[in-house]
Amino acid sequence: MDLKKLAKTLIPDENLLPLEEYENIYPQRQIAKGAEVTRLAPSPTGFIHLGNLYSALADERLAHTTGGIFYLRIEDTDEKRKVEGAVESVIRSLKYFGINFDEGAEIEGGTNAYGPYYQRQRASIYRAFVKDLIEKGLAYPCFCTAEELDAVREEQTANKQITGYYGQFAKCRNLSEEEIYENLQQGKPFVIRLKSQGNTENKMTFNDAIKGEITVTENDQDVVILKSDGIPTYHFAHAIDDHFMRTTLVIRGEEWLSSLPIHIELFKVLGFNRPKYGHTCSLMKVDNGTKRKLSKRKDPELSLDYYRKAGYFPVAVVKYLMTILNSNFEEWANKNPNAHYSEFKYSINKMGKSGALFDLDKLNDISKTELSKLSAEEMYNFLNDWVQEFGSDLDKLHFENKEYIEKILTLIMGIGGKKRRKDIERAEQGVNMLNYFFDDSFNPVYSYRFDGNTVNTVLDEFAKVYDENDDNSAWFAKVKAIAPAVDFASEMSEYKANPQGFKGNVSDVAEILRIAVTGMANSPDLCTIMGILGKERTLQRLNMAKI
Ligand code: GLU
Repeated sequence: MDLKKLAKTLIPDENLLPLEEYENIYPQRQIAKGAEVTRLAPSPTGFIHLGNLYSALADERLAHTTGGIFYLRIEDTDEKRKVEGAVESVIRSLKYFGINFDEGAEIEGGTNAYGPYYQRQRASIYRAFVKDLIEKGLAYPCFCTAEELDAVREEQTANKQITGYYGQFAKCRNLSEEEIYENLQQGKPFVIRLKSQGNTENKMTFNDAIKGEITVTENDQDVVILKSDGIPTYHFAHAIDDHFMRTTLVIRGEEWLSSLPIHIELFKVLGFNRPKYGHTCSLMKVDNGTKRKLSKRKDPELSLDYYRKAGYFPVAVVKYLMTILNSNFEEWANKNPNAHYSEFKYSINKMGKSGALFDLDKLNDISKTELSKLSAEEMYNFLNDWVQEFGSDLDKLHFENKEYIEKILTLIMGIGGKKRRKDIERAEQGVNMLNYFFDDSFNPVYSYRFDGNTVNTVLDEFAKVYDENDDNSAWFAKVKAIAPAVDFASEMSEYKANPQGFKGNVSDVAEILRIAVTGMANSPDLCTIMGILGKERTLQRLNMAKI
């Protein structure tokens, strides 16, 4: 068969360069030995989720801790599944979490010398290589229709055979020159398939950069490399791109392990050195006592929007992901509570080989700790950003009073006190916590544990003696002094010695006052809260809370 003629017929493009030219256009990168070039290569078919962020963080850390490059490539070969705004969403989401690219699609400031970074704009490069493979007899046109392929698949499934286009099922693999030209003459649409040289009898050991040695079966599938619209498939495009963009390390989810044999063969037939591949393990959660993968359908926490809307502190999410990604991160973070996570020496060898457990409670804990490190002004800014995007009109109105909010935040975070408090977990919850400091959003739940008489006596007695100039101990002395009026013990020691002898104790007095003033049974220091509210509002609330 005249393969040169066939290649020219199938790929008649005039603008293709000799293959060596591409090596010159995309030269080896001038980077230090050991520096890694990594990439995030999303298909713009949806919005990125926590799993993508988790892989992207590993990519970014591995590039930036080795002095390498992290770039963004958009794998848009599947036009039908494209979603408007997906590229912007990827960039915006990662930026929100402080993950920045050095170069790539829509990234300003980088050299961007290895672009274009949208695969559809690179069609001619791919086509030049497909043409070469046809000339070498390593690729061929396939005219099978979708119906024919479906029928083969059904037959294979019924016979419990491996599905796909291979061996005896690869009908077009052995078409004669005449048959090919006849099909072309009839105007039949075609795809170009790889003529696989592999055999599934052959197993090989593959060194995965994360999982270590794994066994891989050779590919024997004649996969499509160029679709009928002249655009390559992801498999083919990624091999060309990772080669010419000079990627040294591919970090991606373990769902891609099943495609690895195809990728190994593609690199081989293209004559390229393969980058290293590391497959991250899937994020799992414990659900009803069993471990399962996080699922888009069942778990809202998989969506990155969930974290933005709930107002998670981005650094906390990243730090939490780091604890799952690198087994020694947590210990380092505990030893260096004030260091930025980028100071940690990230190591691919410490990445988990199997199931990473995602635990929202732990994230919440980290979030509280991180937020407790902010100054009142930083916290105001963080909450205010959230309020401006997601808050109610009332929240926005409250946040106009920066000074008042900062005063409250100082209290809630225990700034200046003996111990920093960790009451704020996320912006949404933090903003809601401020509600009782404003009359228009004060929605008390008067869940007293005592009868009306007792409650009213406490409230009345305290109202009589409250003085906003009292310091903490004078304030508390007054709380204690009320106790006997309702048969409560003034001293805890008294109460403990004879619990039967009293209806309650001094802390129950404080609880009644707390519920009255804040509408909740738990709050930061009540004396300070009363001070912030001021005498008039405090007395008003004590009066309002009687039953
Ligand atoms: N475009 C693929 C995706 O959507 C990327 C796979 C890879 O990283 O090689 O996830």
